[in-house]
Amino acid sequence: MSCIFCKIIAGEIPSYKVYEDKHTLAFLDIGPVNPGHTLVVPKKHFANIEEAGEETLCRVMKTVKKVGLSLKKNLGAVGYNILEANDPEAGQSVPHLHFHLIPRLPGDGLTFWPQKKYATGEAEAVLKKINMIK
Ligand code: 5GP
Ligand code: ZN
Repeated sequence: MSCIFCKIIAGEIPSYKVYEDKHTLAFLDIGPVNPGHTLVVPKKHFANIEEAGEETLCRVMKTVKKVGLSLKKNLGAVGYNILEANDPEAGQSVPHLHFHLIPRLPGDGLTFWPQKKYATGEAEAVLKKINMIK
């Protein structure tokens, strides 16, 4: 077992646990964007969203909701960002499915990714490729 999050789940590597149930674990990210930055993982190893079953995803999202509520209620977060880097090419550095919960604190000054504009006809062309509503 070489996966660092599997080792955390197994208790072989210490972590600051925020929440735990039978199927999921939430623990503090070692390199927080803001204090309280939490990672939520399924206890079973899946590399990404496609590998995980729907039941697992539901369980993980339930834990995300619980942790998010605690960040607001108990940490004074005014909101939070949820981020999941799906695949190494998308910036995923640990190959065990995980959702970041980044508490937003008043005046934290964080900004996320820059946005582009569609050229004429580009949105329609893209939509033609990915639209699943037939
Ligand atoms: P990713 O880059 O895959 O989206 O996020 C991986 C996250 O895991 C990073 O934010 C990183 O700080 C965190 N991380 C990596 N190793 C450890 C560790 O050993 N313990 C904890 N608590 N977090 C870790
Ligand atoms: Zn793992």
